[in-house]
Amino acid sequence: SKVAGKNRYTVYTNELNQKRHRRMGLEKDLEAAIELEQFFVVYQPKWDSVRGGLQGMEALIRWEHPDFGVVSPGEFIPIAEETGVIVPMTEWLMAEVACQTKKWAALGFPPFPVSVNMSAVLFTNGQVADMVERCLMESGMVPSLLELEITETVAMSDLDSAVVQLNRIKALGVCVSLDDFGTGYSSLGALDEMPIDTVKIDQIFIRKYTQPSKQAMISSIIAIAQHLGLQVVAEGVETEEQVRFLKSHGCKVMQGYYFGKPMRAVDCTAWLRQLPER
Ligand code: C2E
Ligand code: CA
Ligand code: CA
Ligand code: CA
Repeated sequence: SKVAGKNRYTVYTNELNQKRHRRMGLEKDLEAAIELEQFFVVYQPKWDSVRGGLQGMEALIRWEHPDFGVVSPGEFIPIAEETGVIVPMTEWLMAEVACQTKKWAALGFPPFPVSVNMSAVLFTNGQVADMVERCLMESGMVPSLLELEITETVAMSDLDSAVVQLNRIKALGVCVSLDDFGTGYSSLGALDEMPIDTVKIDQIFIRKYTQPSKQAMISSIIAIAQHLGLQVVAEGVETEEQVRFLKSHGCKVMQGYYFGKPMRAVDCTAWLRQLPER
Protein backbone atom coordinates (compact mmCIF):
# COMPACT_ATOMS: atom_id res chain seq x y z
CA SER A 1 0.00 0.00 0.00
CA LYS A 2 0.88 3.63 -0.18
CA VAL A 3 1.38 3.87 3.59
CA ALA A 4 3.71 0.87 3.72
CA GLY A 5 5.64 2.31 0.80
CA LYS A 6 6.05 5.61 2.58
CA ASN A 7 7.21 3.84 5.74
CA ARG A 8 9.78 1.89 3.78
CA TYR A 9 11.02 5.13 2.30
CA THR A 10 11.27 6.70 5.74
CA VAL A 11 13.20 3.72 7.10
CA TYR A 12 15.50 3.89 4.11
CA THR A 13 16.26 7.60 4.49
CA ASN A 14 16.79 7.13 8.22
CA GLU A 15 19.36 4.46 7.49
CA LEU A 16 21.01 6.70 4.93
CA ASN A 17 21.06 9.56 7.39
CA GLN A 18 22.53 7.35 10.08
CA LYS A 19 25.24 6.21 7.72
CA ARG A 20 26.02 9.74 6.69
CA HIS A 21 25.99 10.88 10.29
CA ARG A 22 28.42 8.11 11.26
CA ARG A 23 30.70 8.81 8.34
CA MET A 24 30.79 12.54 9.17
CA GLY A 25 31.44 11.75 12.81
CA LEU A 26 34.29 9.43 11.95
CA GLU A 27 35.76 11.93 9.52
CA LYS A 28 35.63 14.72 12.10
CA ASP A 29 37.19 12.60 14.88
CA LEU A 30 39.85 10.74 12.91
CA GLU A 31 42.47 13.47 12.95
CA ALA A 32 42.49 13.73 16.77
CA ALA A 33 42.50 9.94 17.26
CA ILE A 34 46.29 9.66 17.46
CA GLU A 35 46.63 12.40 20.09
CA LEU A 36 43.73 10.95 22.09
CA GLU A 37 45.37 7.49 21.94
CA GLN A 38 42.28 5.88 20.43
CA PHE A 39 44.20 3.68 17.99
CA PHE A 40 45.55 0.31 18.98
CA VAL A 41 47.29 -2.51 17.19
CA VAL A 42 46.29 -6.16 16.95
CA TYR A 43 48.71 -8.83 15.81
CA GLN A 44 47.89 -11.93 13.79
CA PRO A 45 50.34 -14.83 13.48
CA LYS A 46 51.66 -16.25 10.21
CA TRP A 47 52.38 -19.92 10.69
CA ASP A 48 55.08 -22.02 9.04
CA SER A 49 53.15 -25.23 8.47
CA VAL A 50 56.16 -27.25 7.40
CA ARG A 51 58.41 -26.42 10.34
CA GLY A 52 55.42 -26.09 12.66
CA GLY A 53 56.31 -22.71 14.14
CA LEU A 54 55.70 -18.99 14.05
CA GLN A 55 56.90 -17.32 10.84
CA GLY A 56 55.92 -13.75 11.71
CA MET A 57 53.05 -11.46 12.67
CA GLU A 58 50.90 -8.97 10.80
CA ALA A 59 50.03 -5.71 12.55
CA LEU A 60 46.44 -4.55 11.95
CA ILE A 61 45.11 -1.24 13.19
CA ARG A 62 41.93 -0.68 15.22
CA TRP A 63 40.19 2.49 16.29
CA GLU A 64 38.36 2.65 19.59
CA HIS A 65 35.87 5.45 19.03
CA PRO A 66 34.25 6.94 22.15
CA ASP A 67 30.71 6.69 20.70
CA PHE A 68 30.89 4.07 17.97
CA GLY A 69 33.12 1.53 19.75
CA VAL A 70 35.79 -0.36 17.86
CA VAL A 71 35.69 0.74 14.21
CA SER A 72 37.13 -1.64 11.61
CA PRO A 73 39.93 -0.46 9.32
CA GLY A 74 37.77 -1.31 6.32
CA GLU A 75 35.61 1.64 7.37
CA PHE A 76 38.15 4.27 8.46
CA ILE A 77 41.22 3.58 6.26
CA PRO A 78 39.44 5.04 3.19
CA ILE A 79 38.67 8.17 5.24
CA ALA A 80 42.28 8.32 6.45
CA GLU A 81 43.44 8.07 2.84
CA GLU A 82 41.13 10.84 1.66
CA THR A 83 42.01 13.21 4.50
CA GLY A 84 45.75 12.50 4.60
CA VAL A 85 45.55 11.19 8.18
CA ILE A 86 46.97 7.96 6.73
CA VAL A 87 50.49 9.47 6.92
CA PRO A 88 50.70 10.22 10.68
CA MET A 89 48.58 7.13 11.39
CA THR A 90 51.01 4.81 9.60
CA GLU A 91 53.96 6.54 11.26
CA TRP A 92 52.32 6.01 14.63
CA LEU A 93 51.68 2.34 13.79
CA MET A 94 55.27 1.68 12.72
CA ALA A 95 56.60 3.30 15.90
CA GLU A 96 54.18 1.20 17.97
CA VAL A 97 55.26 -1.99 16.16
CA ALA A 98 58.95 -1.12 16.71
CA CYS A 99 58.25 -0.60 20.41
CA GLN A 100 56.33 -3.87 20.74
CA THR A 101 59.09 -5.78 18.89
CA LYS A 102 61.58 -4.55 21.49
CA LYS A 103 59.28 -5.62 24.34
CA TRP A 104 59.00 -9.14 22.90
CA ALA A 105 62.77 -9.30 22.48
CA ALA A 106 63.24 -8.18 26.10
CA LEU A 107 60.87 -10.96 27.21
CA GLY A 108 63.21 -13.44 25.51
CA PHE A 109 61.06 -14.51 22.54
CA PRO A 110 63.05 -15.48 19.45
CA PRO A 111 62.82 -12.58 16.97
CA PHE A 112 60.17 -12.70 14.24
CA PRO A 113 59.25 -10.14 11.55
CA VAL A 114 56.14 -7.97 11.90
CA SER A 115 54.42 -6.70 8.77
CA VAL A 116 52.65 -3.38 8.35
CA ASN A 117 50.06 -2.61 5.66
CA MET A 118 51.18 0.34 3.53
CA SER A 119 48.36 2.13 1.79
CA ALA A 120 48.94 2.75 -1.92
CA VAL A 121 48.31 6.49 -1.49
CA LEU A 122 51.55 6.66 0.52
CA PHE A 123 53.40 5.78 -2.69
CA THR A 124 51.86 8.56 -4.74
CA ASN A 125 53.71 11.40 -3.01
CA GLY A 126 57.04 9.62 -3.37
CA GLN A 127 57.88 9.84 0.34
CA VAL A 128 57.20 6.35 1.54
CA ALA A 129 60.86 5.26 1.54
CA ASP A 130 61.82 8.34 3.61
CA MET A 131 59.02 7.54 5.99
CA VAL A 132 60.20 3.94 6.51
CA GLU A 133 63.83 5.01 6.83
CA ARG A 134 62.94 7.66 9.43
CA CYS A 135 60.92 5.13 11.42
CA LEU A 136 63.83 2.67 11.48
CA MET A 137 66.29 5.37 12.51
CA GLU A 138 64.11 6.84 15.25
CA SER A 139 63.13 3.47 16.73
CA GLY A 140 66.38 1.61 16.19
CA MET A 141 64.30 -1.32 14.95
CA VAL A 142 66.22 -4.08 13.18
CA PRO A 143 65.18 -3.55 9.53
CA SER A 144 64.83 -7.28 8.81
CA LEU A 145 62.12 -7.45 11.51
CA LEU A 146 59.93 -4.97 9.61
CA GLU A 147 57.96 -6.06 6.58
CA LEU A 148 55.62 -4.07 4.38
CA GLU A 149 52.43 -5.35 2.82
CA ILE A 150 51.38 -3.53 -0.32
CA THR A 151 48.72 -4.12 -2.95
CA GLU A 152 49.07 -3.92 -6.68
CA THR A 153 47.33 -0.56 -6.68
CA VAL A 154 50.75 0.98 -5.83
CA ALA A 155 51.78 0.14 -9.38
CA MET A 156 48.67 1.54 -11.03
CA SER A 157 49.36 5.26 -11.18
CA ASP A 158 53.12 5.12 -11.69
CA LEU A 159 54.89 1.76 -11.84
CA ASP A 160 58.39 3.24 -12.34
CA SER A 161 58.09 5.46 -9.29
CA ALA A 162 56.73 2.56 -7.22
CA VAL A 163 59.66 0.36 -8.26
CA VAL A 164 62.18 3.09 -7.34
CA GLN A 165 60.64 3.48 -3.89
CA LEU A 166 60.36 -0.25 -3.29
CA ASN A 167 64.01 -0.73 -4.25
CA ARG A 168 64.99 1.96 -1.75
CA ILE A 169 62.90 0.25 0.95
CA LYS A 170 64.44 -3.12 0.13
CA ALA A 171 67.93 -1.62 0.25
CA LEU A 172 67.19 -0.73 3.88
CA GLY A 173 66.74 -4.45 4.55
CA VAL A 174 62.94 -4.39 4.76
CA CYS A 175 61.00 -7.18 3.02
CA VAL A 176 57.90 -6.52 0.93
CA SER A 177 54.79 -8.67 0.43
CA LEU A 178 52.19 -8.30 -2.28
CA ASP A 179 48.85 -8.47 -0.43
CA ASP A 180 45.44 -9.67 -1.65
CA PHE A 181 46.99 -11.26 -4.72
CA GLY A 182 44.54 -12.47 -7.33
CA THR A 183 41.86 -9.85 -6.67
CA GLY A 184 41.14 -6.34 -7.85
CA TYR A 185 43.56 -5.08 -10.40
CA SER A 186 46.15 -7.79 -9.91
CA SER A 187 48.22 -8.46 -12.95
CA LEU A 188 51.02 -10.86 -13.62
CA GLY A 189 52.94 -7.91 -15.04
CA ALA A 190 53.05 -6.15 -11.67
CA LEU A 191 54.15 -9.38 -10.02
CA ASP A 192 57.03 -9.61 -12.44
CA GLU A 193 58.05 -5.93 -12.36
CA MET A 194 57.83 -5.18 -8.65
CA PRO A 195 60.74 -6.04 -6.36
CA ILE A 196 58.82 -8.12 -3.83
CA ASP A 197 59.74 -11.09 -1.64
CA THR A 198 56.37 -12.64 -0.89
CA VAL A 199 52.94 -13.09 -2.43
CA LYS A 200 49.87 -13.33 -0.22
CA ILE A 201 47.02 -15.30 -1.79
CA ASP A 202 43.78 -13.48 -1.06
CA GLN A 203 41.38 -15.10 1.37
CA ILE A 204 38.58 -15.22 -1.20
CA PHE A 205 40.37 -18.13 -2.92
CA ILE A 206 40.97 -19.95 0.34
CA ARG A 207 37.37 -19.49 1.51
CA LYS A 208 36.01 -21.09 -1.68
CA TYR A 209 38.89 -23.50 -2.20
CA THR A 210 36.55 -26.40 -3.03
CA GLN A 211 35.54 -24.70 -6.30
CA PRO A 212 37.63 -26.02 -9.20
CA SER A 213 38.32 -22.50 -10.51
CA LYS A 214 39.63 -21.40 -7.10
CA GLN A 215 41.84 -24.49 -6.91
CA ALA A 216 43.23 -23.67 -10.33
CA MET A 217 43.99 -20.12 -9.19
CA ILE A 218 45.61 -21.22 -5.93
CA SER A 219 47.86 -23.82 -7.53
CA SER A 220 48.79 -21.44 -10.36
CA ILE A 221 49.68 -18.59 -8.00
CA ILE A 222 51.84 -20.96 -5.94
CA ALA A 223 53.55 -22.28 -9.08
CA ILE A 224 54.26 -18.79 -10.47
CA ALA A 225 55.59 -17.62 -7.10
CA GLN A 226 57.89 -20.63 -6.92
CA HIS A 227 59.16 -20.02 -10.46
CA LEU A 228 59.87 -16.38 -9.55
CA GLY A 229 61.59 -17.41 -6.30
CA LEU A 230 58.96 -15.74 -4.11
CA GLN A 231 57.55 -16.89 -0.79
CA VAL A 232 53.82 -17.61 -0.57
CA VAL A 233 51.44 -16.89 2.30
CA ALA A 234 47.83 -18.11 2.21
CA GLU A 235 45.40 -15.78 4.01
CA GLY A 236 42.11 -16.51 5.73
CA VAL A 237 42.85 -20.15 6.57
CA GLU A 238 40.09 -21.31 8.90
CA THR A 239 39.88 -25.10 8.66
CA GLU A 240 42.09 -28.17 8.81
CA GLU A 241 40.87 -29.17 5.34
CA GLN A 242 42.18 -25.89 3.95
CA VAL A 243 45.52 -26.48 5.66
CA ARG A 244 45.76 -29.96 4.13
CA PHE A 245 44.81 -28.69 0.69
CA LEU A 246 47.31 -25.83 0.78
CA LYS A 247 50.11 -28.04 2.08
CA SER A 248 49.52 -30.56 -0.69
CA HIS A 249 49.93 -27.73 -3.20
CA GLY A 250 53.26 -26.66 -1.71
CA CYS A 251 52.12 -23.66 0.31
CA LYS A 252 54.24 -23.39 3.41
CA VAL A 253 53.14 -20.29 5.31
CA MET A 254 49.52 -19.73 6.33
CA GLN A 255 47.55 -17.13 8.22
CA GLY A 256 43.99 -17.18 9.48
CA TYR A 257 41.65 -17.89 12.36
CA TYR A 258 42.73 -21.56 12.34
CA PHE A 259 46.15 -20.52 13.61
CA GLY A 260 45.25 -17.37 15.48
CA LYS A 261 42.93 -14.38 15.33
CA PRO A 262 44.28 -10.84 15.43
CA MET A 263 45.14 -10.21 19.11
CA ARG A 264 45.96 -7.18 21.26
CA ALA A 265 49.62 -7.05 22.29
CA VAL A 266 48.95 -8.43 25.76
CA ASP A 267 46.97 -11.40 24.41
CA CYS A 268 49.55 -11.91 21.73
CA THR A 269 52.26 -12.16 24.38
CA ALA A 270 50.21 -14.81 26.19
CA TRP A 271 49.76 -16.62 22.88
CA LEU A 272 53.52 -16.52 22.28
CA ARG A 273 54.12 -17.94 25.77
CA GLN A 274 51.99 -21.03 25.14
CA LEU A 275 53.89 -21.94 21.95
CA PRO A 276 55.97 -25.09 22.35
CA GLU A 277 59.67 -24.23 22.61
CA ARG A 278 61.81 -25.31 19.75
P1 C2E B 1 44.24 -7.39 4.95
O1 C2E B 1 45.60 -6.76 5.01
O2 C2E B 1 43.96 -8.32 3.82
O3 C2E B 1 44.05 -8.09 6.36
C1 C2E B 1 43.40 -9.33 6.54
C2 C2E B 1 42.02 -9.14 7.10
O4 C2E B 1 41.37 -10.41 7.19
C3 C2E B 1 42.01 -8.58 8.52
O5 C2E B 1 40.84 -7.81 8.68
C4 C2E B 1 41.91 -9.84 9.38
O6 C2E B 1 41.35 -9.62 10.65
C5 C2E B 1 41.02 -10.72 8.53
N1 C2E B 1 41.26 -12.14 8.72
C6 C2E B 1 42.42 -12.74 9.08
N2 C2E B 1 42.28 -14.06 9.15
C7 C2E B 1 40.99 -14.32 8.82
C8 C2E B 1 40.24 -15.55 8.70
O7 C2E B 1 40.71 -16.66 8.91
N3 C2E B 1 38.94 -15.42 8.31
C9 C2E B 1 38.36 -14.22 8.06
N4 C2E B 1 37.08 -14.21 7.69
N5 C2E B 1 39.05 -13.05 8.16
C10 C2E B 1 40.35 -13.10 8.53
P2 C2E B 1 40.91 -6.33 9.26
O8 C2E B 1 41.86 -6.31 10.42
O9 C2E B 1 39.51 -5.89 9.47
O10 C2E B 1 41.58 -5.50 8.11
C11 C2E B 1 40.92 -5.27 6.90
C12 C2E B 1 41.82 -4.54 5.94
O11 C2E B 1 42.11 -3.23 6.43
C13 C2E B 1 43.20 -5.20 5.80
O12 C2E B 1 43.12 -6.26 4.91
C14 C2E B 1 44.02 -4.04 5.28
O13 C2E B 1 43.83 -3.88 3.89
C15 C2E B 1 43.39 -2.85 5.99
N6 C2E B 1 44.24 -2.48 7.14
C16 C2E B 1 44.27 -3.00 8.39
N7 C2E B 1 45.18 -2.36 9.14
C17 C2E B 1 45.77 -1.44 8.36
C18 C2E B 1 46.81 -0.46 8.54
O14 C2E B 1 47.43 -0.34 9.61
N8 C2E B 1 47.12 0.33 7.48
C19 C2E B 1 46.49 0.20 6.28
N9 C2E B 1 46.86 1.01 5.30
N10 C2E B 1 45.53 -0.69 6.07
C20 C2E B 1 45.16 -1.51 7.08
CA1 CA C 1 47.65 -7.34 4.86
CA1 CA D 1 45.19 -9.51 2.52
CA1 CA E 1 42.28 -7.11 2.06
